[in-house]
Amino acid sequence: MGLIVQKYGGTSVGSLERIQRVAGKIAQRYREGNRIAVVVSAMSGETDRLINLAKNLSPKPDSREMDVLVSTGEQVSVSLLAMALKDLGVPARSLLGHQICIYTDKSHTKARIHQIETGKIQQVLESGEVAVVAGFQGITEEKDITTLGRGGSDTSAVALAAVLKADVCEIYTDVDGVYTCDPNICSKARRLDRISYDEMLEMASLGAKVLQTRSVEFGKKYNVPILVKSTFTDEGGTLTTAEDEDMEKEVVSGITYDRNEARITLLGVQDRPGIAATVFSALADENINVDMIIQNSSADGKFADLSFTVTKTDSERALEIVRGKASILGARDVVGDTAIAKLSIVGVGMRSHAGVAARMFESLSQVGINIIMISTSEIKVSCVIDEKFLELGVRVLHDAFKLDEPGNSLEKN
Ligand code: ADP
Ligand code: ASP
Ligand code: MG
Repeated sequence: MGLIVQKYGGTSVGSLERIQRVAGKIAQRYREGNRIAVVVSAMSGETDRLINLAKNLSPKPDSREMDVLVSTGEQVSVSLLAMALKDLGVPARSLLGHQICIYTDKSHTKARIHQIETGKIQQVLESGEVAVVAGFQGITEEKDITTLGRGGSDTSAVALAAVLKADVCEIYTDVDGVYTCDPNICSKARRLDRISYDEMLEMASLGAKVLQTRSVEFGKKYNVPILVKSTFTDEGGTLTTAEDEDMEKEVVSGITYDRNEARITLLGVQDRPGIAATVFSALADENINVDMIIQNSSADGKFADLSFTVTKTDSERALEIVRGKASILGARDVVGDTAIAKLSIVGVGMRSHAGVAARMFESLSQVGINIIMISTSEIKVSCVIDEKFLELGVRVLHDAFKLDEPGNSLEKN
């Protein structure tokens, strides 16, 4: 008898009919003799609707109350799915974050799971019931409701699979696996049978929202195999596991993009110690994450331009903070730009191949795409470009690295 954690995303439970269909899938696995914990997202569009309600009411909604509000989406879907399972004769019980004690830190709207108590959920599973757990939500030690950031139900599921020591965490969604790039914007995208945690981590953190980054971090840390599958077909699937000998070390295994970045530039700041520290400490104090950073000094070494990116959601607040510091820093001007996007290539084979970044830059230049910022790591290269060229950029890079064929390499071109 296996122990499986499954997660169904918003589109998978987007209507009553779909909820019944999901219940049917769970019932089948249950009748095969598995113990099952199911993590469920809010019905599609519901979290957006709730966020908009708050934004229409208040210019800067309080984040604690925001969590109380947005966590209700999952309360609706778990109750409906548990009802549908019971109608099929499968014993089931819906469980909210506070009932199974999913403890998080206090960072409302982007909380991180610290601990999950397994007592209650084990009890439910041992009594032969399917545990239907609300994704995305947790509680603080003080019993305040928190949420885990957009797409957070993936993280609820993998964290639960880790603490329950489940055989596998199955993520059911609207695509049948992880592709070489978002199949919804690139028709030549190819599904990967397997991907390493490290590659998936980079892809997720660079914008491939098929898995929330934090869920892959949990998967890697606790060695949980994560199987991404479609709710709507039995074919396909991508397994995310530790890198092994058999895994093809593609030079580039995927292209990702992120439209949710904005750039802030401080022009003509003094080139002296402490400038970067002042800017980035002020942002960190407000819990604003900074992604790319570039600083250029003038030839005489007196002045520098400092550019960095933050999420579009944080950009107005970040601009306010940096403008507040502009006079201390002696900056000539502070400018913001939200019409940008980040385009990245990811692949473990980059570690051992030269010329990958050069090919990326060359391919973009051939279609006239200007690169505004660049950042690299061992297994990725990212470029910030004008947002309007993003889809063209994705397709050009997909062709340049021949990602529609398995086993791509630089030599093949
Ligand atoms: P769910 O609501 O099930 O959590 P999401 O919308 O969060 O689903 O994630 C699935 C979506 O991720 C797909 O519809 C697809 O557009 C997008 N996506 C982005 N990059 C990739 C990729 N490399 N492979 C597969 N899907 C991707
Ligand atoms: N409902 C939440 C969201 O839309 C969490 C999730 O779907 O994973 O972001
Ligand atoms: Mg998702």
